Amino acid sequence: MRCRPPIISGLLTLVALSTLVSCLPSQRTQLTESQLSALIESHPPFPALSPNYYMTTTPAGNLSEQSSPDGADERSNGKTVALLTPMLIPRSPGSDNATIVRDHIMSHFDGLSNWTAVTDAFMATVPEYGGVMGVLNFTNLIFRLTPPGSDDIPSRYLTLVAHYDSKISPFGFIGATDSAVPCAILMYLAESLTPHILARWKSDIDAVSDDTGLQIIFMDGEEALVEWSDKDSLYGARHLANLWESEKKSSQFGRMTALQDIDLFVLLDLLGAGSPAVPCFFEITSWACRDLAETETRVRNAGLAKTKGQRPFIRAHNVMKNVFIDDDHMPFLRRGIPIMHVIPIPFPKVWHTMNDDGAHLSSEAVHDWAVFVTGWVAGYLGVGDFL
Ligand SMILES: [Zn+2]
Repeated sequence: MRCRPPIISGLLTLVALSTLVSCLPSQRTQLTESQLSALIESHPPFPALSPNYYMTTTPAGNLSEQSSPDGADERSNGKTVALLTPMLIPRSPGSDNATIVRDHIMSHFDGLSNWTAVTDAFMATVPEYGGVMGVLNFTNLIFRLTPPGSDDIPSRYLTLVAHYDSKISPFGFIGATDSAVPCAILMYLAESLTPHILARWKSDIDAVSDDTGLQIIFMDGEEALVEWSDKDSLYGARHLANLWESEKKSSQFGRMTALQDIDLFVLLDLLGAGSPAVPCFFEITSWACRDLAETETRVRNAGLAKTKGQRPFIRAHNVMKNVFIDDDHMPFLRRGIPIMHVIPIPFPKVWHTMNDDGAHLSSEAVHDWAVFVTGWVAGYLGVGDFL
């Protein structure tokens, strides 16, 4: 429990404790089927996550508008904003398209209430390729939801992560599942949950500093530029883990590093193809994996999933402890951060091929991943009573 009794002395203490103790509802809970329905029906993922919605890419990679379909869910500005489509362009580190995609992500969070952006820009040594030699610019984007009208901030963060860069080869590679879809899902999740998390905090602003908040990282440079190795991969994750390990801050527990603010590091990767099978990878976080699987079950039972008659996406009974996957979680795992890796085994058939594009996505699977993850995070952050 995070309840903090007010400091009151004298005979009235017992009475005061029974009447004045304020307390936010528990976190790390599960939304009920009716709460999941209320959450998703008030803000459905479609059409923002459709690969063809509202904006489309031309062969030159420029963005152009298309008309909005009838009956589209609309934001307060009067039109739904495409989340996924603007990212379905080649976006290797340091390229103009990488800047376009970063601007797309930044402007999305600019349009939401109370999100603070932190940019981790750096240069790193890279192998020689395609006329690039020596060093290249990389930029990680970190967003944190901050409480309204309070200097207090949450003591730790549920940290959701996906990489926004794409492979430089084969030429023109899009990387829809790798990882444009996970990025778009995190943008949708932030838009969907922001008002509910803020409502929770407004209900007891003094309790915010005991709460777990939400942090979302869009990582650059996950892909190898030439050939995967310890030095040619995970540029953004390696830099950020190193940076946060060295950043010290004072807390009620003494000096801590920024890394220790991470409650759980959840990495989404290779999502969006049909019929995925995602196991749990770590015994220590299998509770979170089981909770995500339970959310999937409840979403399906509530009739909110678009993929019907399929085996579950999350296979929580299966902890694949002996499977090693090198990905953006590794620099954090090595520093003792608890990890949940949401990645299908086997990888999608389109993995690292030209077919990993919008046309080969399963729109139903993209929708359902957005609903499963958003519903699970809503329970984790305890917003079930604030929908
Ligand atoms: Zn990849």
